[in-house]
Amino acid sequence: MGRKGAGSRRLSESLLNKEIWLCLALLCCILWETALLVAAMRPEGDEVWKGEWALAIGVIADTVRTEIQGAPTDMKGSAYDDSFLSERNYGGERKHYGTDLMDLADTPGRLPIYSMTKGVVTNLGWNELGGWRVGVTSPSGVYYYYAHLHSYAPGLEIGDTVQPGRLLGYMGDSGYGEEGTTGRFPTHLHLGIQVYPEAGDESWINPYPFLMERESK
Ligand SMILES: [Zn+2]
Repeated sequence: MGRKGAGSRRLSESLLNKEIWLCLALLCCILWETALLVAAMRPEGDEVWKGEWALAIGVIADTVRTEIQGAPTDMKGSAYDDSFLSERNYGGERKHYGTDLMDLADTPGRLPIYSMTKGVVTNLGWNELGGWRVGVTSPSGVYYYYAHLHSYAPGLEIGDTVQPGRLLGYMGDSGYGEEGTTGRFPTHLHLGIQVYPEAGDESWINPYPFLMERESK
């Protein structure tokens, strides 16, 4: 009896051990699966940043859409396509942070350039890349950059408040060199929209869809 009792105790102990091990193994499996699931669901650092950035861009896109509602929709005489982030090499390898509106007649001084938004003229004058350029900062802080001008609208000065449709100047081919350089590329307007100027080049957004949207109004 004693031996039998000891045997069945050993048997039940070993069964118990097996059960414990099974439970532990199952628990491990569950924990492992949960860890995998959580890892899969939780975006890595960069993706969190991108997600937040995408959200911010979405909000700012609405702001831009609203503040350019008074922008002129007539773009006759010019043509543009989507060249955002295409390669550029003047001044080193870099990206194209804007949309180029090309003068179909390639004649500097021919096509007028109007402000897309209300804002304040915060930049005016020569810039090596942009040539004769105008920078307008809208009330929401978005920066609208008009580059490669031929000439400025008479009397336009830094600090001026402009309304949508205000003449800023005329399309040209200035830039890519020291002050007064022209003719390094066909006549066009480089339009840039920068949503957080203090954040640098990463915060230029693509003007192309906004232009398409305006033009279709
Ligand atoms: Zn450009």
